[in-house]
Amino acid sequence: MTMQDTNVQIGCPHCHAVNRLEAARLNEAPNCGACKAPLLAGAPIAATKESLPLILKHSKLPVVIDFWAPWCGPCQQFGPTFAAAAKDMAGKMLFIKVDTEAQPELGNQFRVRSIPTLLVVEGNAELERVSGALSPGQFKAWLMQFL
Ligand SMILES: [Zn+2]
Repeated sequence: MTMQDTNVQIGCPHCHAVNRLEAARLNEAPNCGACKAPLLAGAPIAATKESLPLILKHSKLPVVIDFWAPWCGPCQQFGPTFAAAAKDMAGKMLFIKVDTEAQPELGNQFRVRSIPTLLVVEGNAELERVSGALSPGQFKAWLMQFL
């Protein structure tokens, strides 16, 4: 892989097959090559230190990132809220999850000090962040300001 590589690897949130696609195609509602379900709609996708920069660079939608870890209770509690919002707001925002255990570089890069931390990024600029698990109502209200 070179610095010029613009292919992004995305694990399908439905069947977990790894899809490799041109980053610019992120905005064309790509389907999973294996199960044909929409890759970026209806469920959060897991990002890595390789895929996140490409997603942020190419996404025309605001991106909301959930920094979490498997051992974090509040993160587990918040997981279904994040997943439900990803379903409700498909096509309006892109919902990304970063496992800070598996991807510590990303936690450092975004200066994440506590988890869960939620971050909204648009056009490579951070718009806002909030730490701590929000209720479904709070989360929805928080997201609405970016639409
Ligand atoms: Zn799939």
